Amino acid sequence: MLLLRFLLAIAAGYLIYRLVRRFIAPANDTLNAPPAGSGSKLVRCERCATLIPPENALVRGDHLFCSEQCRTAS
Ligand SMILES: [Zn+2]
Repeated sequence: MLLLRFLLAIAAGYLIYRLVRRFIAPANDTLNAPPAGSGSKLVRCERCATLIPPENALVRGDHLFCSEQCRTAS
């Protein structure tokens, strides 16, 4: 039964991971990504190349920006 629980935990973790990824790189415009607790991986601003946590990134299309200035300027 311990093994079954372990496998369920992995499956749940994978589903959450996929959900979070969907929020980080959405197909359409989202100004404020919902707070994703996980993720030490940083994304790069398309304009000034600043590294930022994906939950703070502003998205336009499939481009990521560090701030509203960068997003509107590009
Ligand atoms: Zn920037």
